[in-house]
Amino acid sequence: MADTKYIFVTGGVVSSLGKGIIAASLGKLLQARGYKVTIQKFDPYINIDPGTLNPYEHGECYVTVDGHEADLDLGHYERFLNVPTTRSNNITTGRIYQSVINKERKGDYLGKTVQVVPHITDEIKRNVKLLGSKYKFDFVITEIGGTVGDIESLPFIESVRQLKWELGKNCMCVHLTYVPYIAAAKEFKTKPTQHSVKQLQELGIQPDVLVLRTEHLLSNDITRKVALFCNVDADAVVQSVDVPTIYEVPLVLQRQNMDVTILKKMGLEVGPTPEMKPWNEFLQKKTNATETVKIGLVGKYVELQDAYKSIDESLLQAAIYNDRKLDLHLFHSEKLNENNAAELLKDMDGILIAPGFGQRGIEGKFAALKYAREHDVPCLGICLGMQCMVIEYARDVLGMTDANSTEMEPNTEYKVIDLMEEQKNVTNMGGSMRLGAYDCVLKKGSKSYEAYGKEHIQERHRHRFEFNSQYRDQFEAAGMKCVGENPETGLVEVVEIPSLKWFVGVQFHPEYNSTVVNPNPLFVSFVKAAIDNK
Ligand code: GLN
Repeated sequence: MADTKYIFVTGGVVSSLGKGIIAASLGKLLQARGYKVTIQKFDPYINIDPGTLNPYEHGECYVTVDGHEADLDLGHYERFLNVPTTRSNNITTGRIYQSVINKERKGDYLGKTVQVVPHITDEIKRNVKLLGSKYKFDFVITEIGGTVGDIESLPFIESVRQLKWELGKNCMCVHLTYVPYIAAAKEFKTKPTQHSVKQLQELGIQPDVLVLRTEHLLSNDITRKVALFCNVDADAVVQSVDVPTIYEVPLVLQRQNMDVTILKKMGLEVGPTPEMKPWNEFLQKKTNATETVKIGLVGKYVELQDAYKSIDESLLQAAIYNDRKLDLHLFHSEKLNENNAAELLKDMDGILIAPGFGQRGIEGKFAALKYAREHDVPCLGICLGMQCMVIEYARDVLGMTDANSTEMEPNTEYKVIDLMEEQKNVTNMGGSMRLGAYDCVLKKGSKSYEAYGKEHIQERHRHRFEFNSQYRDQFEAAGMKCVGENPETGLVEVVEIPSLKWFVGVQFHPEYNSTVVNPNPLFVSFVKAAIDNK
C-alpha cells in the first residue's frame, strides 16, 4: 500500500467503554484483510510511563518486548493482533513534554517561544507518524486515552484535527460513545452521544465513524437518528452491544461491515470478507467447552478488575485450548493464612501465585504455597510468586526459618532472594527494573521444557530481585531444582519441584506473551496439569 493510513479512536460520554477493545477489534479486521496493522495508545497523564503507578490507579502494568512499561491496552492489542508492540506504541503527555523540553534545552528552538501549538502538537504528530514511516505499517490505529472534553487530552485532540486536515482521506476518526437505556422510561437515550459529537466538532473534528456502546440491541431507528444528528453516514454508525467475551467484538463489528465502511472511505479496494479461521475456531472451542477447570489466583489486588488482566486472559486462553471453561477463583493474599488455606483452597484444581511488590499479603502467598506443595496441587508462581516459592521452601524444607527476600527484610540471615547486582546503584524508580525480553535456557526433562517443547525461550521481565545462587546447591539437594537460567548471566529464571505433579516458578512473566491464536505454552501446560489433577 502506498501511503500509511491513520485511524484515531476517541471516546465520549463516559470512560471505561472499551476503546482499547474497539481499537484492537478494528485492527484485527483490517489485519485479516492482509494489511500490516499496529495500534498505539496516547495517555494524557504526566507520568512518563505507568511503571510507577500502582494497580489501584491504573490496573496492570504491561511490559513490551523492548522493555517498556506500558498501558494495559497494549496487552489487548497484542492478544488480538498477535504482533508485538514496542515503546513507540504507548506515549504519555509526560513523554511528549520531556522530549520537547529536552530539545528546548539543547537549543533546537533557539529564539522561539515554545508553545503547546505548534511544538507539543508537532511532537504528538511526529510520534503518530513515526510508526507509519519507520516501521512501514499500512494502518496505524491510535487510541486517545481519556474522554473528549478532558483538559488533559486537548493537545492530542488538536493534533488529530491537524492531521485530519493534512492527511485528508488517509486519516479518519472513529468516535466511541455510550447509549444508555432508561429502564423506567423504557427508552434508549441518544442525547449524550449527540453532545459528545458536538464537543468533538467544537474542537474541529468531524468523526467519520461512530461506535455506540450499548447494553441492549439498538433498533435501526436509533442508529439512523444518531447519524442524522451527528453528520455521519447511516452505515457509519455501528453498535457494540455487550457480548459474553471481548473476543467476539471483532465479529460484532464485522457483521455491521465496519471495516468495509472504513476501507471505502479511505478509497481502498474492499475485496472478499476474510474468514478469520483461527479466530473463529478459538471462539467455537470456547462455546463447545462444557466441563470446567477451577483455578485459584492468589494476590493482593484481586478485588481490582484489571490488576491481573494479562494473567486472567492467559488462563482463559489456556483453558479454552484445553477444551475447558475457566472457573477462576480469586483469593486475597491478606486473608489467607496457615489456618484457613486448606479449607479455602481445597476445591482448586490448580493454584497461581501472582506477581507483586512489597510485604503486604506475602504471608498469605506462603500459606497457599505450603498448601499446594503439601497437597501436590499444580502450582504456577510468577515473578514475586516464584520468589515466594523459594522463600517458603527455604523456611519449611531447608529449615532457614527467617529466610526472606531483601525486598521484604533487608537484614534477614538467609537472603535467598536478593537485589540483583546491576540494581544496587539504581536510585531512580522509573523504568529502571530489569525489563523486557531476555533469553532463558531450559533443562531437558523439566516440566517447563516439556511445556515449551524447546530449550531456548524468550520471555519478558519486570523485577529488581533474583534467586540468590549462593543457595542453589542447597535447594537442589533438597529437591527444588533450578531448571531455567539466563545464558549470559546465569540468573535463575525457573525453579521446579520434580517430585510433585506440576510445581513451577518463573522469574519472568509468561502472561505478557499469550495471544488468542498463540496461547502461552506454560499456561497451557499448567492448566492441563490442573485438569489432570481433578
Ligand atoms: N518485587 C519483586 C522484584 O522486584 C517481584 C516483581 C514482580 O513480581 N513483578 O523482584
